Amino acid sequence: MGSSPLPAPSSSPSYTPDSGNSGYRSLAYDLDIAYRVATNRLDGTATIRLIATADLTRIPLDLARLRVSKVRVDGTKAVRFVQSAAKVVITPAAPIPAGEEFVVTIEYAGAPTPRNSTWGTVGWEELTDGAIVASQPSGAPSWFPCNDDPSDKASYRIRVTTEQPYAVVCNGVLVRRSTRSGRTTWEYEQTQPTSTYLATVQIGRYELVPFTAGAVPGVLAGPPALRSRIGHDFGELPSMMACFEERFGPYPFDGYTIVVTEDDLEIPLEAQGLAIFGANHADGHGSAERLVAHELAHQWFGNSVGVASWQYIWLNEGFACYSEWLWSEYSGSQSAASLAAATHERLSKLPQDIVVGDPGPKLMFDDRLYKRGALTLHALRLELGDDAFFGLLRSWTAEHRHGVVSTADFVAAAGAAAGAGAGAGAGASRVTALLSAWLDRRVLPPL
Ligand SMILES: [Zn+2]
Repeated sequence: MGSSPLPAPSSSPSYTPDSGNSGYRSLAYDLDIAYRVATNRLDGTATIRLIATADLTRIPLDLARLRVSKVRVDGTKAVRFVQSAAKVVITPAAPIPAGEEFVVTIEYAGAPTPRNSTWGTVGWEELTDGAIVASQPSGAPSWFPCNDDPSDKASYRIRVTTEQPYAVVCNGVLVRRSTRSGRTTWEYEQTQPTSTYLATVQIGRYELVPFTAGAVPGVLAGPPALRSRIGHDFGELPSMMACFEERFGPYPFDGYTIVVTEDDLEIPLEAQGLAIFGANHADGHGSAERLVAHELAHQWFGNSVGVASWQYIWLNEGFACYSEWLWSEYSGSQSAASLAAATHERLSKLPQDIVVGDPGPKLMFDDRLYKRGALTLHALRLELGDDAFFGLLRSWTAEHRHGVVSTADFVAAAGAAAGAGAGAGAGASRVTALLSAWLDRRVLPPL
């Protein structure tokens, strides 16, 4: 079936070679954006606090298509910069020594458009009546200058001013809203470390309806015409939150916002503290319940515990898919075991050409990677037993809260979880071998 017993190469070049920069890390983004929905015109000022990790004579940032008009470094007057298709490279007046913090201020403008990528278009995109940002994995430079590397997390303050009838939803907490001359400014603050691809702006004729899920405050944002459908289809969120907090540990952010766009969307997607669904996902019959659980689970797996490189995407998607099965089990629907058996049966008939631990950029969002990632976790659960398995998930989210991880980190943690139990050392090596069969080889192991 096209499968090969050969192990994958031990490391891969970047999955997004045009994104990310070396020589510094980001600490905080302050984005001040004026946007006109009618004309898709964006005027932005990005104030970015960075720290040099090497002596810097030039500062490259990712920015696609939008034109930079002025750059300052630490408040000094206009400094030199050059702009190419996907970068703006700044030359500070004097070299910045390693270890020093500095602030870059960039004024830029244009008509934001999504970027073309291996995975279709990503980034800022116009809706029929509003705008959506869906950046995974390389779309962030379509709307702000950044170090577009998932391992480089920073805090965000995003201020968007737009025409009054529109609501703006961004990551984090709405800290200010004011209206002047028919335009409203919405200011959001996201204090927890956030990857660029999870920073977002959503603009539409939305009403914002508060809800709570246990101790977590939430907002349902969507078109008023869809209010009852949204209320119904996201009504299980409090139970989902309870299920996942019990299995994964405390919810890692200040709140959770759902945005339902007036347009249909091919797939829902996660952002930091937030998830975006299309009108088609809120049909009033709960048809997308599986996906509601999936996106919520990303807040732990992918958003709080992030990937150090896209190569490790299964640590986001395998966990989010397995969470769908955990929710199914918890809510009295099909058990994870029966869902795993059915999925294994289906995958066994498909080409076995994916190495889950290093799928390559073309296959990183392949449904088979998602499902086989989930099966990997089910196989591990069978090996460890429920107590050790869920203990592992809770210590994983606690230890790596707001950090980034690799597959090797997870294999080590799973080995330690096995070693701590009854079988001790033999258990640890069995777990390492089991995970290697699932993650490093193309052939589908038996369940
Ligand atoms: Zn996902």
